Amino acid sequence: MLLLKGLIAYFLLILASFFMVIGERLVTQRSFLWGRSICDYCHHPIHPLYLMPLIGPLLTKFHCSHCRHPIAKKYLFGELVYALSVIVLLLTTNHPIFNSAIFSMLFIMSVSDYHKQWVPDRLQLILLAIIMINHALLAIPIYWFQPIVLLLLFILINKIWPQSIGGADIKTISLLSLTYPAHFGLMWLQIATSLALLYILCHNYVTHRSLEGIPFFPFITLSFPIISLVYYFNPNLF
Ligand SMILES: [Zn+2]
Repeated sequence: MLLLKGLIAYFLLILASFFMVIGERLVTQRSFLWGRSICDYCHHPIHPLYLMPLIGPLLTKFHCSHCRHPIAKKYLFGELVYALSVIVLLLTTNHPIFNSAIFSMLFIMSVSDYHKQWVPDRLQLILLAIIMINHALLAIPIYWFQPIVLLLLFILINKIWPQSIGGADIKTISLLSLTYPAHFGLMWLQIATSLALLYILCHNYVTHRSLEGIPFFPFITLSFPIISLVYYFNPNLF
């Protein structure tokens, strides 16, 4: 049983690695199926063994096997965050596969947002398809009015404070409001904005430089397992 759990956890790390490749290559116009992974510094192709999550970085002691430049820790961080988050969603939500699929899409979008500060529309379409298929399979109603209210609200906010919320953020939050109730969504947004503010404060304190703008998607994504945990341990909170 322990071996099976270990294999599932490692499979999630591999999945995270693959999703990070998709998210990064979609916005850098590279094929995520055929292009080989290369070192960010010397551009030498990386041996498949060294691409294996955890095992590869440990074998090379977190350095490129060709030029010996240190490997960015963001890949390991992303893999661990993805695996832990999916485990939380699998254990704490009523529709674990559906919620893990939603989280996976948000994770890919976060990687795109992090790398190029934009999210391809095709990812939003896949997110919409996942929501529609799930609702059709489970025969549960969709909150049609919520995205309409949210879209109007976001348009108003952007009129008052131009470009305060990105187009991709607006589209994705509106899509998520099709499937999650308003009180869940509001707390989700609260956690995401709090995490973003905390990040900005810590960044400014450590570097003594003010941030111009930050990708908001990673905070939306990271907040999903957090709010699932909040609900799980406080079922009578709302
Ligand atoms: Zn290298």
